Amino acid sequence: AIDTGLTTVRTTCAYCGVGCGVLATPDKQGGAAIAGDPDHPANYGRLCSKGSALGETLALDERLLHPMMRDASGAMVRAGWNDALDHVADGFRHIVAEHGPGAVAFYLSGQLLTEDYYVANKLMKGFIGSANVDTNSRLCMASSVVGHKRAFGADTVPGCYEDLDQADLLVFVGSNAAWCHPVLYQRMLANKQARGARFVVIDPRRTDTVGDDDLFLGLKPGTDTALFSGLLAYLADNGALDRAYIAQHTSGFDEALARAKTIAGSVAATARATGLNEVDVATFFQMFRQTSRVVTLYSQGVNQSAQGTDKVNAIINCHLATGRIGKPGASPFSLTGQPNAMGGREVGGLANQLAAHMGFTPSDIDRVRRFWKAPHIATHEGLKAVAMFDAIDRGEIKALWVMGTNPAVSLPDADKVRSALGKLDLFVVSENVLSNDTVNAGAHVLLPALAWGEKSGTVTNSERRISRQRSFLRAPGEAKPDWWALSEVAKRLGFGAGFAYTSAAQIFREHAMLSDFENDGSRDFDIGGLMHVTDDAFDTMAPVQWPLRKGPTMQQARFFAKGRFFTRDQRGQFIAPEAPELRTQVTEERPLRLNTGRVRDQWHTMTRTGLSPRLGQHIPEPYVEIHPDDATRFAIADGGYAHLTTDYGACTLKVVINERQQPGMLFAPIHWNDETAGYARVGALVAPVVDPYSGQPENKATPVSIAAV
Ligand code: SF4
Repeated sequence: AIDTGLTTVRTTCAYCGVGCGVLATPDKQGGAAIAGDPDHPANYGRLCSKGSALGETLALDERLLHPMMRDASGAMVRAGWNDALDHVADGFRHIVAEHGPGAVAFYLSGQLLTEDYYVANKLMKGFIGSANVDTNSRLCMASSVVGHKRAFGADTVPGCYEDLDQADLLVFVGSNAAWCHPVLYQRMLANKQARGARFVVIDPRRTDTVGDDDLFLGLKPGTDTALFSGLLAYLADNGALDRAYIAQHTSGFDEALARAKTIAGSVAATARATGLNEVDVATFFQMFRQTSRVVTLYSQGVNQSAQGTDKVNAIINCHLATGRIGKPGASPFSLTGQPNAMGGREVGGLANQLAAHMGFTPSDIDRVRRFWKAPHIATHEGLKAVAMFDAIDRGEIKALWVMGTNPAVSLPDADKVRSALGKLDLFVVSENVLSNDTVNAGAHVLLPALAWGEKSGTVTNSERRISRQRSFLRAPGEAKPDWWALSEVAKRLGFGAGFAYTSAAQIFREHAMLSDFENDGSRDFDIGGLMHVTDDAFDTMAPVQWPLRKGPTMQQARFFAKGRFFTRDQRGQFIAPEAPELRTQVTEERPLRLNTGRVRDQWHTMTRTGLSPRLGQHIPEPYVEIHPDDATRFAIADGGYAHLTTDYGACTLKVVINERQQPGMLFAPIHWNDETAGYARVGALVAPVVDPYSGQPENKATPVSIAAV
């Protein structure tokens, strides 16, 4: 890369949903010095190990620098953009003409910028006429989205990061924030040290998030709903409800409480259902009851579950019942995994959303159709990720465009996904890298995309804060923005008038205009106040939280303290969850359960973090953690290798014996893959079991067997 000659540029980290501000100073040799942005309200200058190492990941050695297409002999050869785009447009046109719009799909990524997401969604849902647009965010926080919509009437995060500084009790559920949201975790540690905030960590696995003085609740996998049902019952039985809030601002409390009592109506019943001891359960319940300022943070341990949506609602129920929502230091809080999972949600980058937090209701469909002047608006939800790849496997979806993600590694039952990709008539991948497991699964066309440091647009973090990602390196080779490639294909399909974009700022303005509801307060996501942002103002735009409605509006850092939900009756909705039950059973053949997750210094499938030797030092190779009792039972030696097998796949991993696992559970990180390690594609082992409401897969409890190698 050649630097642009700019001095320091303010941008945002490429990785997690904390959304830290970054100062990047190009070094004139294609790299950049990286520092935390002291003025960004997500991190105030702090960066974690991954963010600090961003400058080590800018080399071009592995980059895809020009379009490539498969020739008649099956070899991938260099192509020009025109030929590649013509080929993509021709393929989509013919397949839609012959098989209908349901035969094509886009699979996107929480790594994309909001502007890329917006254009992809508009092309597929408004012009091609299919809602088969889904994203790897389905694997990340789809259960939180549905939980929010069921409880609040909209996908609204009620709190903000300041709540984490102001809380007196921080409850982590299924969240290893110390590794996965490190800068926020540091903020919470600072609260603990300065103000004495207490931590409760609820997780089947004892992670680095658990400090010596924290209450750790190592519950049985899949029993979070029982714990929070027990808590709701306890709050009701001990005079801890906010009866005025429940009466004035909510619906469904009696039914939810009755259900909670059938699931876990006492401390003893909760202990039995969760595998915890009664003293710990009672201690947690008392802490929650006695502390007004409590934030419950939840992440993949809650979301990545066949009952993820119910888990989210069981947590939210406890906050609604105590009126601890949208108040300083008091809220439920979903920690999103990816840098722009929230931006994708805002533009409707999920198969069950339309755009600007609108859904597939007749009025929303009509509004979006008129706004886009859409000739073929999709009128019903598309296929969510796991169902989408099943449809590809069955031959029902024949053309797929993957952008910025690696489903052949990250989806459950990843061997089946990889083989399904090979069946496509047209398989297009927009990528930064020349080679990964998805590219190697038989892509027909590769389109070089701009990477972090080169692309320019916006992302939204976990607290609804929109920040600019800015370029500080010139586009290498022939790499282009994803929104440009999408628009060029749209033009070739005859939709040029709707896709005459020349800049990210122009797309952002259109996105803001579509979200404008005239400040009527009926919608959570409304950034109509930004619809006239000039190019210059977009360039210099400071991080802003939504909503940012048109007119003289106050900033709104929090929602729902005084009710006014986005449901039809403007009341928060209690949800009666199903009794907790894992959808798979351990057997004699598969006697353990496999929990998967992340490690501190790697990101996703390592296409970027794998470039940094420093990051590789933390944990240099893939591994499986096993409890000493299970190691003895299965004759597994520490430091040796073990073969893991599920009904879906197998892999070989280095063994780490420790007591972080409970007996009966294994843990393996998700990052390594055939490209990086040759034998450790853990996604291939994961059961494709999904939550019935969110479609999010259960990545935490697949029955598995282990044998020494
Ligand atoms: Fe980047 Fe997340 Fe680390 Fe912040 S906490 S520097 S956003 S990886």
